[in-house]
Amino acid sequence: MMICNVCQSRFSFRRLFHHPRVPEYNLVYYKKIAEALASKTKPVDFQQCLDCGFVFNGTHGGLDYNVDYESSRAFSQVFTDYISHVIDFIRTNVCFERPPTIIEFGAGDCQFANSLVSEWPISRYFAIDPSYKMSEDNGKVYRYRPPAPDLSESTRSAYSIPSSSDLVIARHVLEHIREPVDFISGIVASKPTYVFIEVPCSSYIIDSGNYHFFSYEHCSYFDRKSLAVLMQKFGYSCIASKYAFNSENLLSLFKLNELENKFFIPEIKERRGSNKQFDFSSWLRLLTYRTGKRGIFWGASGKGVMLLNLLDFHYKVMPQIIDVNPKLSELFVPCTGNQILLPELIDFSNYDKILVLNSLYLDEVRSRVASLSRDMEVVYLLEGVN
Ligand SMILES: [Zn+2]
Repeated sequence: MMICNVCQSRFSFRRLFHHPRVPEYNLVYYKKIAEALASKTKPVDFQQCLDCGFVFNGTHGGLDYNVDYESSRAFSQVFTDYISHVIDFIRTNVCFERPPTIIEFGAGDCQFANSLVSEWPISRYFAIDPSYKMSEDNGKVYRYRPPAPDLSESTRSAYSIPSSSDLVIARHVLEHIREPVDFISGIVASKPTYVFIEVPCSSYIIDSGNYHFFSYEHCSYFDRKSLAVLMQKFGYSCIASKYAFNSENLLSLFKLNELENKFFIPEIKERRGSNKQFDFSSWLRLLTYRTGKRGIFWGASGKGVMLLNLLDFHYKVMPQIIDVNPKLSELFVPCTGNQILLPELIDFSNYDKILVLNSLYLDEVRSRVASLSRDMEVVYLLEGVN
Protein backbone atom coordinates (compact mmCIF):
# COMPACT_ATOMS: atom_id res chain seq x y z
CA MET A 1 0.00 0.00 0.00
CA MET A 2 1.22 3.47 -0.86
CA ILE A 3 1.89 5.84 2.02
CA CYS A 4 2.86 9.52 2.02
CA ASN A 5 6.27 9.88 3.68
CA VAL A 6 5.38 13.39 4.92
CA CYS A 7 1.78 13.31 6.26
CA GLN A 8 1.35 9.49 6.40
CA SER A 9 -1.86 9.64 4.33
CA ARG A 10 -2.71 6.29 2.71
CA PHE A 11 -5.66 7.19 0.57
CA SER A 12 -5.50 9.99 -1.97
CA PHE A 13 -2.76 10.07 -4.57
CA ARG A 14 -2.55 10.93 -8.23
CA ARG A 15 0.05 9.80 -10.72
CA LEU A 16 1.95 12.68 -12.34
CA PHE A 17 4.54 10.96 -14.52
CA HIS A 18 6.00 7.55 -15.12
CA HIS A 19 8.75 6.34 -17.42
CA PRO A 20 10.44 2.93 -17.75
CA ARG A 21 14.04 4.17 -18.18
CA VAL A 22 15.84 7.30 -17.02
CA PRO A 23 19.54 7.55 -16.01
CA GLU A 24 20.20 6.32 -12.47
CA TYR A 25 22.56 9.28 -11.94
CA ASN A 26 22.12 12.33 -14.13
CA LEU A 27 25.15 14.20 -12.75
CA VAL A 28 27.69 11.42 -13.29
CA TYR A 29 29.52 11.84 -16.59
CA TYR A 30 31.86 9.43 -18.37
CA LYS A 31 35.31 9.61 -19.98
CA LYS A 32 34.46 6.96 -22.59
CA ILE A 33 31.36 6.84 -24.76
CA ALA A 34 31.03 3.07 -24.26
CA GLU A 35 30.80 3.56 -20.47
CA ALA A 36 28.22 6.33 -20.93
CA LEU A 37 26.06 4.17 -23.23
CA ALA A 38 26.24 1.26 -20.76
CA SER A 39 25.36 3.34 -17.68
CA LYS A 40 22.45 2.13 -15.58
CA THR A 41 18.83 3.22 -15.97
CA LYS A 42 15.91 3.10 -13.52
CA PRO A 43 12.13 3.44 -13.83
CA VAL A 44 10.32 6.39 -12.24
CA ASP A 45 6.71 6.68 -11.07
CA PHE A 46 5.93 10.09 -9.59
CA GLN A 47 2.84 10.39 -7.40
CA GLN A 48 1.36 13.32 -5.52
CA CYS A 49 -0.25 13.06 -2.09
CA LEU A 50 -3.50 15.02 -2.42
CA ASP A 51 -3.62 15.68 1.34
CA CYS A 52 -0.31 17.54 1.81
CA GLY A 53 0.85 17.99 -1.80
CA PHE A 54 4.12 16.04 -1.39
CA VAL A 55 5.41 14.60 -4.70
CA PHE A 56 7.51 11.44 -4.65
CA ASN A 57 8.90 8.69 -6.84
CA GLY A 58 7.08 5.53 -5.75
CA THR A 59 9.77 3.28 -7.29
CA HIS A 60 12.76 4.88 -5.59
CA GLY A 61 15.07 2.46 -3.80
CA GLY A 62 17.70 4.90 -2.49
CA LEU A 63 21.01 6.03 -4.02
CA ASP A 64 24.63 6.07 -2.92
CA TYR A 65 26.19 9.51 -3.40
CA ASN A 66 29.71 8.22 -2.90
CA VAL A 67 30.21 8.49 -6.68
CA ASP A 68 32.14 10.91 -8.89
CA TYR A 69 29.54 13.65 -8.85
CA GLU A 70 29.79 17.01 -10.66
CA SER A 71 27.12 19.56 -9.81
CA SER A 72 29.11 22.80 -9.84
CA ARG A 73 27.50 25.77 -11.57
CA ALA A 74 30.13 28.26 -10.40
CA PHE A 75 31.07 29.02 -14.02
CA SER A 76 27.95 31.08 -14.68
CA GLN A 77 27.57 34.69 -13.52
CA VAL A 78 23.77 34.25 -13.50
CA PHE A 79 24.17 31.48 -10.95
CA THR A 80 26.74 33.36 -8.86
CA ASP A 81 24.31 36.30 -8.63
CA TYR A 82 21.57 33.91 -7.57
CA ILE A 83 23.73 32.62 -4.69
CA SER A 84 24.08 36.22 -3.41
CA HIS A 85 20.31 36.62 -3.66
CA VAL A 86 19.76 33.53 -1.47
CA ILE A 87 22.29 34.77 1.12
CA ASP A 88 20.48 38.14 1.25
CA PHE A 89 17.17 36.35 1.79
CA ILE A 90 18.53 34.45 4.81
CA ARG A 91 20.38 37.40 6.25
CA THR A 92 17.42 39.79 6.15
CA ASN A 93 15.15 37.29 7.89
CA VAL A 94 17.31 36.07 10.79
CA CYS A 95 18.31 37.90 13.94
CA PHE A 96 21.30 36.87 16.10
CA GLU A 97 22.77 38.48 19.20
CA ARG A 98 26.25 37.16 18.36
CA PRO A 99 27.98 35.86 15.21
CA PRO A 100 26.19 32.58 14.46
CA THR A 101 27.50 29.05 14.15
CA ILE A 102 26.19 27.51 10.94
CA ILE A 103 26.01 23.90 9.78
CA GLU A 104 25.23 23.21 6.14
CA PHE A 105 24.16 19.72 5.06
CA GLY A 106 24.85 18.81 1.42
CA ALA A 107 27.31 21.67 0.90
CA GLY A 108 28.60 20.31 -2.44
CA ASP A 109 31.44 22.36 -3.92
CA CYS A 110 31.11 24.94 -1.06
CA GLN A 111 30.35 27.79 -3.46
CA PHE A 112 27.48 28.85 -1.21
CA ALA A 113 29.48 28.37 2.02
CA ASN A 114 32.43 30.41 0.74
CA SER A 115 30.17 33.21 -0.52
CA LEU A 116 28.30 33.37 2.78
CA VAL A 117 31.41 33.57 4.98
CA SER A 118 32.88 36.28 2.75
CA GLU A 119 29.76 38.46 3.07
CA TRP A 120 28.66 37.75 6.62
CA PRO A 121 30.43 37.90 10.01
CA ILE A 122 29.89 34.43 11.39
CA SER A 123 31.46 32.36 14.14
CA ARG A 124 32.03 29.02 12.45
CA TYR A 125 30.72 27.28 9.35
CA PHE A 126 30.62 23.51 9.09
CA ALA A 127 30.05 22.28 5.53
CA ILE A 128 28.98 18.65 5.43
CA ASP A 129 28.65 16.47 2.34
CA PRO A 130 28.78 12.70 1.78
CA SER A 131 30.66 13.15 -1.53
CA TYR A 132 33.76 14.77 0.06
CA LYS A 133 36.85 12.64 -0.30
CA MET A 134 37.93 13.50 3.26
CA SER A 135 37.62 16.15 5.92
CA GLU A 136 39.51 19.32 5.21
CA ASP A 137 39.82 22.85 6.48
CA ASN A 138 39.21 25.30 3.66
CA GLY A 139 39.94 28.69 5.23
CA LYS A 140 36.91 29.67 7.27
CA VAL A 141 34.83 26.76 6.07
CA TYR A 142 35.43 23.39 7.67
CA ARG A 143 34.51 20.67 5.17
CA TYR A 144 33.53 17.38 6.63
CA ARG A 145 32.31 14.02 5.33
CA PRO A 146 30.08 12.34 7.91
CA PRO A 147 29.68 8.59 8.30
CA ALA A 148 25.89 9.06 8.42
CA PRO A 149 23.45 11.82 7.45
CA ASP A 150 22.90 12.82 11.05
CA LEU A 151 25.54 13.73 13.57
CA SER A 152 25.80 11.64 16.68
CA GLU A 153 27.29 13.11 19.86
CA SER A 154 30.47 11.04 19.50
CA THR A 155 30.96 12.20 15.90
CA ARG A 156 30.39 15.79 16.87
CA SER A 157 32.97 15.69 19.63
CA ALA A 158 35.51 13.81 17.46
CA TYR A 159 35.39 16.56 14.84
CA SER A 160 34.80 19.52 17.19
CA ILE A 161 31.40 20.15 15.64
CA PRO A 162 29.31 22.05 18.18
CA SER A 163 26.37 20.21 19.70
CA SER A 164 24.18 23.18 18.98
CA SER A 165 24.11 25.57 16.06
CA ASP A 166 22.19 28.77 15.40
CA LEU A 167 21.33 28.05 11.80
CA VAL A 168 21.10 24.83 9.81
CA ILE A 169 21.13 25.08 6.02
CA ALA A 170 19.96 22.40 3.59
CA ARG A 171 20.00 23.62 -0.01
CA HIS A 172 18.85 21.18 -2.67
CA VAL A 173 19.17 18.21 -0.38
CA LEU A 174 15.57 17.22 0.39
CA GLU A 175 14.80 16.34 -3.23
CA HIS A 176 17.40 13.54 -2.92
CA ILE A 177 15.94 12.14 0.31
CA ARG A 178 13.40 9.33 0.25
CA GLU A 179 12.50 9.55 3.94
CA PRO A 180 12.34 13.30 4.63
CA VAL A 181 11.02 12.88 8.19
CA ASP A 182 14.10 10.85 9.22
CA PHE A 183 16.45 13.33 7.54
CA ILE A 184 14.92 16.42 9.19
CA SER A 185 14.87 14.58 12.51
CA GLY A 186 18.67 14.20 12.20
CA ILE A 187 19.48 17.78 11.20
CA VAL A 188 17.26 19.43 13.85
CA ALA A 189 18.18 17.03 16.68
CA SER A 190 20.07 19.78 18.53
CA LYS A 191 17.19 22.27 18.03
CA PRO A 192 18.88 25.04 16.00
CA THR A 193 17.01 28.36 16.19
CA TYR A 194 16.66 28.61 12.41
CA VAL A 195 16.51 26.12 9.55
CA PHE A 196 16.85 27.32 5.97
CA ILE A 197 15.63 24.96 3.26
CA GLU A 198 15.88 25.45 -0.49
CA VAL A 199 14.16 22.98 -2.81
CA PRO A 200 12.94 22.80 -6.39
CA CYS A 201 9.27 23.68 -6.21
CA SER A 202 6.73 20.94 -7.00
CA SER A 203 3.98 23.33 -8.14
CA TYR A 204 6.36 24.91 -10.64
CA ILE A 205 7.04 21.50 -12.19
CA ILE A 206 3.38 20.51 -12.21
CA ASP A 207 2.22 23.79 -13.72
CA SER A 208 4.98 24.02 -16.30
CA GLY A 209 4.74 20.37 -17.37
CA ASN A 210 8.53 20.13 -17.44
CA TYR A 211 8.93 16.36 -17.40
CA HIS A 212 12.71 16.51 -17.37
CA PHE A 213 12.61 17.56 -13.69
CA PHE A 214 11.36 14.07 -12.82
CA SER A 215 14.77 12.40 -12.59
CA TYR A 216 15.64 9.31 -10.61
CA GLU A 217 18.02 11.28 -8.37
CA HIS A 218 15.21 13.61 -7.30
CA CYS A 219 12.74 11.40 -5.47
CA SER A 220 10.96 14.05 -3.32
CA TYR A 221 9.43 17.37 -4.32
CA PHE A 222 7.92 19.94 -1.99
CA ASP A 223 5.93 23.14 -2.04
CA ARG A 224 4.98 25.57 0.74
CA LYS A 225 2.30 23.36 2.27
CA SER A 226 4.11 20.00 2.24
CA LEU A 227 7.29 21.62 3.60
CA ALA A 228 5.33 23.36 6.38
CA VAL A 229 3.61 20.06 7.30
CA LEU A 230 7.04 18.37 7.47
CA MET A 231 8.72 21.04 9.60
CA GLN A 232 5.74 21.42 11.93
CA LYS A 233 6.33 17.83 13.09
CA PHE A 234 9.56 19.09 14.67
CA GLY A 235 8.14 22.31 16.14
CA TYR A 236 9.27 24.70 13.38
CA SER A 237 7.14 27.36 11.70
CA CYS A 238 7.85 29.12 8.42
CA ILE A 239 8.74 32.79 9.04
CA ALA A 240 9.68 33.70 5.45
CA SER A 241 9.34 32.02 2.08
CA LYS A 242 9.84 33.05 -1.50
CA TYR A 243 9.80 31.59 -5.01
CA ALA A 244 13.10 32.28 -6.77
CA PHE A 245 15.22 31.45 -9.83
CA ASN A 246 12.39 31.93 -12.31
CA SER A 247 10.05 30.44 -9.64
CA GLU A 248 11.77 27.05 -10.05
CA ASN A 249 13.01 27.08 -6.45
CA LEU A 250 11.36 27.64 -3.11
CA LEU A 251 13.36 29.41 -0.37
CA SER A 252 11.99 28.84 3.14
CA LEU A 253 13.22 29.94 6.52
CA PHE A 254 11.86 28.13 9.58
CA LYS A 255 12.14 29.14 13.21
CA LEU A 256 11.84 26.93 16.28
CA ASN A 257 8.49 27.57 17.99
CA GLU A 258 8.84 28.99 21.46
CA LEU A 259 5.78 27.08 22.60
CA GLU A 260 5.44 23.36 21.96
CA ASN A 261 2.57 23.11 19.52
CA LYS A 262 2.89 19.93 17.55
CA PHE A 263 -0.81 19.60 16.77
CA PHE A 264 -1.01 22.73 14.67
CA ILE A 265 -1.67 21.96 11.00
CA PRO A 266 -0.68 24.84 8.75
CA GLU A 267 -3.40 26.14 6.44
CA ILE A 268 -1.41 27.01 3.36
CA LYS A 269 -3.00 27.04 -0.06
CA GLU A 270 -0.85 26.16 -3.04
CA ARG A 271 -0.01 29.30 -4.95
CA ARG A 272 -0.66 27.73 -8.29
CA GLY A 273 -3.17 25.27 -9.70
CA SER A 274 -2.55 21.61 -9.21
CA ASN A 275 -5.06 20.07 -11.62
CA LYS A 276 -3.04 20.42 -14.77
CA GLN A 277 -3.18 17.38 -17.02
CA PHE A 278 0.07 16.18 -18.49
CA ASP A 279 0.52 15.22 -22.10
CA PHE A 280 3.96 13.70 -22.46
CA SER A 281 3.79 12.73 -26.14
CA SER A 282 2.84 16.21 -27.40
CA TRP A 283 5.61 17.68 -25.17
CA LEU A 284 8.12 15.32 -26.84
CA ARG A 285 6.83 16.21 -30.34
CA LEU A 286 7.02 19.95 -29.69
CA LEU A 287 10.60 19.89 -28.34
CA THR A 288 11.79 17.56 -31.14
CA TYR A 289 10.28 19.89 -33.73
CA ARG A 290 11.88 22.96 -32.14
CA THR A 291 15.32 21.35 -32.02
CA GLY A 292 15.13 20.44 -35.70
CA LYS A 293 17.82 18.44 -37.48
CA ARG A 294 20.75 20.77 -36.78
CA GLY A 295 20.11 22.16 -33.30
CA ILE A 296 22.57 21.79 -30.40
CA PHE A 297 21.77 21.98 -26.68
CA TRP A 298 23.60 24.40 -24.38
CA GLY A 299 23.63 23.03 -20.82
CA ALA A 300 24.81 19.63 -19.55
CA SER A 301 23.32 19.95 -16.07
CA GLY A 302 21.13 17.22 -14.63
CA LYS A 303 18.12 18.70 -16.43
CA GLY A 304 19.99 18.77 -19.75
CA VAL A 305 20.89 15.10 -19.27
CA MET A 306 17.26 14.24 -18.50
CA LEU A 307 16.01 16.14 -21.58
CA LEU A 308 18.44 14.32 -23.89
CA ASN A 309 17.31 11.00 -22.44
CA LEU A 310 13.54 11.66 -22.49
CA LEU A 311 13.75 12.99 -26.06
CA ASP A 312 16.05 10.09 -27.01
CA PHE A 313 18.55 12.53 -28.54
CA HIS A 314 21.44 10.06 -28.44
CA TYR A 315 24.93 10.65 -29.83
CA LYS A 316 23.90 9.79 -33.39
CA VAL A 317 21.14 12.43 -33.33
CA MET A 318 23.08 15.15 -31.47
CA PRO A 319 26.76 14.13 -31.28
CA GLN A 320 27.81 17.07 -29.09
CA ILE A 321 26.32 19.45 -26.53
CA ILE A 322 27.80 22.63 -25.05
CA ASP A 323 28.62 23.48 -21.44
CA VAL A 324 30.78 26.23 -19.90
CA ASN A 325 32.02 24.00 -17.06
CA PRO A 326 35.62 23.03 -18.02
CA LYS A 327 35.42 19.99 -15.69
CA LEU A 328 32.74 18.51 -17.97
CA SER A 329 34.44 19.23 -21.27
CA GLU A 330 35.08 16.12 -23.40
CA LEU A 331 33.07 13.88 -21.05
CA PHE A 332 29.99 11.93 -22.21
CA VAL A 333 26.35 12.15 -21.11
CA PRO A 334 24.97 9.06 -19.30
CA CYS A 335 22.96 6.67 -21.50
CA THR A 336 22.67 8.91 -24.61
CA GLY A 337 26.47 9.29 -25.06
CA ASN A 338 26.57 12.92 -26.32
CA GLN A 339 30.00 14.51 -25.93
CA ILE A 340 30.10 17.66 -23.78
CA LEU A 341 32.38 20.44 -25.07
CA LEU A 342 33.29 23.99 -24.11
CA PRO A 343 31.83 26.51 -26.60
CA GLU A 344 35.34 27.24 -27.93
CA LEU A 345 35.71 23.60 -29.01
CA ILE A 346 32.50 23.39 -31.06
CA ASP A 347 32.53 23.57 -34.86
CA PHE A 348 29.41 25.70 -35.22
CA SER A 349 29.22 25.15 -38.99
CA ASN A 350 27.65 21.76 -38.14
CA TYR A 351 24.68 23.43 -36.43
CA ASP A 352 22.07 26.04 -37.30
CA LYS A 353 20.80 26.99 -33.83
CA ILE A 354 21.59 26.74 -30.13
CA LEU A 355 18.85 25.59 -27.76
CA VAL A 356 19.12 27.03 -24.25
CA LEU A 357 17.38 24.95 -21.58
CA ASN A 358 16.71 27.71 -19.02
CA SER A 359 15.55 31.20 -20.03
CA LEU A 360 17.65 32.79 -17.25
CA TYR A 361 20.81 31.91 -19.19
CA LEU A 362 19.66 33.31 -22.59
CA ASP A 363 21.56 36.62 -22.41
CA GLU A 364 24.67 34.99 -20.97
CA VAL A 365 24.72 32.41 -23.80
CA ARG A 366 24.07 35.06 -26.48
CA SER A 367 26.99 37.19 -25.30
CA ARG A 368 29.30 34.16 -25.07
CA VAL A 369 28.37 33.16 -28.65
CA ALA A 370 28.92 36.75 -29.83
CA SER A 371 32.36 36.77 -28.15
CA LEU A 372 33.28 33.77 -30.35
CA SER A 373 32.40 35.89 -33.42
CA ARG A 374 29.56 33.57 -34.19
CA ASP A 375 26.24 34.61 -35.65
CA MET A 376 24.06 31.73 -34.44
CA GLU A 377 20.38 31.71 -33.61
CA VAL A 378 20.03 31.20 -29.83
CA VAL A 379 16.55 30.19 -28.65
CA TYR A 380 14.96 29.06 -25.42
CA LEU A 381 13.85 25.47 -26.00
CA LEU A 382 10.94 25.52 -23.54
CA GLU A 383 9.47 28.92 -24.55
CA GLY A 384 5.74 28.94 -23.88
CA VAL A 385 5.92 25.41 -22.47
CA ASN A 386 6.47 26.81 -18.99
ZN1 LIG B 1 0.95 13.74 2.33
